[in-house]
Amino acid sequence: MNIPEALLHYVWQHKLFYINNLTTTDGVPVEVVDTGKSNTDAGPDFFNAKIRIGSTLWAGNVEIHTRSSEWNKHKHLNNKAYDNVILHVVCQADVDIFRSDGTEIPQMALSFPAPILQNYRELLSAKKQIPCENRIKEVPEIIINLWKTALLTERLQQKTAAIFDLLFQNNNNWEDTFYVVLARNFGFGTNSEPFEQLAKSLPHKILATHKNNILQIEALLFGQANLLPTDSADPRVLALKKEYDFLAKKYGLQAIEGSQWKLLRLRPDNFPYVRIAQFAALVVHSSKLFSKIVETTDLAALRAMFDCKPCEFWETHYRFEHQSKRKTKNMSRQTVDILLINTVAPMLFAYAEKKKNAAIKETALSILEQLPPEKNAIVTYWNALGINATSAFETQALIQLKKNYCDLKKCLHCRIGHKIVAKQQ
Ligand code: SF4
Repeated sequence: MNIPEALLHYVWQHKLFYINNLTTTDGVPVEVVDTGKSNTDAGPDFFNAKIRIGSTLWAGNVEIHTRSSEWNKHKHLNNKAYDNVILHVVCQADVDIFRSDGTEIPQMALSFPAPILQNYRELLSAKKQIPCENRIKEVPEIIINLWKTALLTERLQQKTAAIFDLLFQNNNNWEDTFYVVLARNFGFGTNSEPFEQLAKSLPHKILATHKNNILQIEALLFGQANLLPTDSADPRVLALKKEYDFLAKKYGLQAIEGSQWKLLRLRPDNFPYVRIAQFAALVVHSSKLFSKIVETTDLAALRAMFDCKPCEFWETHYRFEHQSKRKTKNMSRQTVDILLINTVAPMLFAYAEKKKNAAIKETALSILEQLPPEKNAIVTYWNALGINATSAFETQALIQLKKNYCDLKKCLHCRIGHKIVAKQQ
C-alpha cells in the first residue's frame, strides 16, 4: 500500500498508530515513550524521541519513510546528521539500513486504523474550494473558534515578519515603514505593487517637506506614478507637470513605470487616480501619522484620522482626462476599515512586538475585534458553509485558513483537518 510520508509523519506525531504489541522488523518489542519533536528543517524527522527497544530505553532521533530503501536513496547512510537515529519508522521494510559507522538501525513498520487513510485521501482528492466542505459540520464549533484565534495570531506574525524586513530597509524608522505599508494597501490588491513602488521611489521625508502644499504633494505622487497625461491642456494638469518637473530635478527623482497601473474591471472609486488623490490628502492632513496612531486606542479617533478630503478637482474627476458628475471622493467607511485592518492593526502589532508592549498589542487585536466582518469572496464562501464571522478578527482568520491551509491542502496541519482525519468511525 502506498501511504504518503506526510501521513506517516502525522500518524507518528499524534500517536495515532496501534500502540500495543509493537515490534521491530526483527521481532524485538518496542514501546514508544515519546515520539519526539517534529523537525521541519534539514536532518531527521523527529528529535529527542524516547523509545524502549527490548529492555533498553533509547533517547535520540526518529526518521520516517514510506519504504526502508529510501534511507539509502536519500543518502542518509553516510550522513553523520543521521547517526543519532534510534528507530526508522516505515510503511514497508524492504531493506536493512545502517549508520555511517556500519551499525544497523532498528526499523518498525507503522500500522494504524484504516479510516485515517480514507479520511486523508478524501480530503486530498476533493475538488472543492474548501476540500473538507462536506465534512466541516462534523467539527465542534469550539474547535473552529479556538483555531480562528490561533490563525489570526499566525497571520499577524507573518505580517510582522514582512514589516520587520521593511523596517530594516528603512533604518528602523517606523514612520517611513508605515508610509510604505500604507501606500501598498492603498492599492487594494489590484494596484498594490505599483503603489508600493511609488512609495519606495519617493522618500517620505520629501513628501513631509511639502506637506502644506497639496499641489506639490499631488505633483510628486502623480509625477512619480507616471500618471500625468503628456498632452493635456487642462490647467490643473499643466500646473502639476510644471511642479513635478521642478521637484523631480531638485530631488533627482525617477518615475516608476506607468503601465503597471491597472484600471480594468475596477470600479471608478478604486481607480489609482482617486486612490492617489486620497493618499495625497492624507499626507497633507497628517504629519507623523504613525506616532499619532500609536498613541490612540479609540476606534472612532482612528477612523477620523483617515477621513480627509481630496482637493476639489477630484470632485468632478475619476481620472485627469474626463470630467464626471460631482461627487466628493473622501474614502468610504468600508475603505477606511480595510486600511485599519490591513495597515494599522498589523503595524501596531509589529510595533508592540518590537517594543515588547502588551498594551499596544491588545489595542491591535481590539481594533480587529471591533471592526465589522470584511465582505469578500473568501468570507462569503465560508459563510455559505455555515462558518460565520462576527468581526474583522474572525474574517482575517478565515482568510488565513483559506490561503495558507485549504489552498495548499495542508489539512494535516489544520485543527479542523485533524478532527476529520483522526476520526475513526
Ligand atoms: S485546511 Fe482545514 S479547513 Fe481547509 S480544507 Fe483542509 S481541513 Fe478543511
